[in-house]
Amino acid sequence: MKSMPQHLEPVNGRYVQMDDVEWADFPEALSEGGITWKLLNVSPEMGAWTAYYKCPKGSSFAPHVHIGPGEYFLTKGRMHVRGGTGEGGETAVAPGYGYEACNAKHVQTYFEEDSEFYMTFLGPLNFIDEDGKTVALVTWKDVQDAWEAATSR
Ligand code: ZN
Repeated sequence: MKSMPQHLEPVNGRYVQMDDVEWADFPEALSEGGITWKLLNVSPEMGAWTAYYKCPKGSSFAPHVHIGPGEYFLTKGRMHVRGGTGEGGETAVAPGYGYEACNAKHVQTYFEEDSEFYMTFLGPLNFIDEDGKTVALVTWKDVQDAWEAATSR
């Protein structure tokens, strides 16, 4: 018997009015200096998520490896990625776009002035210690759980 064709319902789109979303504290275990963020989208079928970050002068993200690629748009300020231009990485200056490849290792992502950026992540982030051992493997689901915990207080 021939089966009926399976109709695939497309995933609904999403729109976020960003000013209507409150800033949440980014987990201090994974950052320093008071970074706040807004989770804009999660895409479980892609293992992806998109967020907007506000990073005060002197703040940084803890060391991590991007398991999948990511794209960012620095809308404000200055961001040192992979050590910054002086150490073989990039120093993004707003307005600046960047693509980070699979397995990009970000030992310290540092903000020398008040900065903001948008980023889409494809796949998890592997936060590591000084020896490169995993401290936390952060998937889209962990990101969503962290967002829900931060915004349900
Ligand atoms: Zn990174």
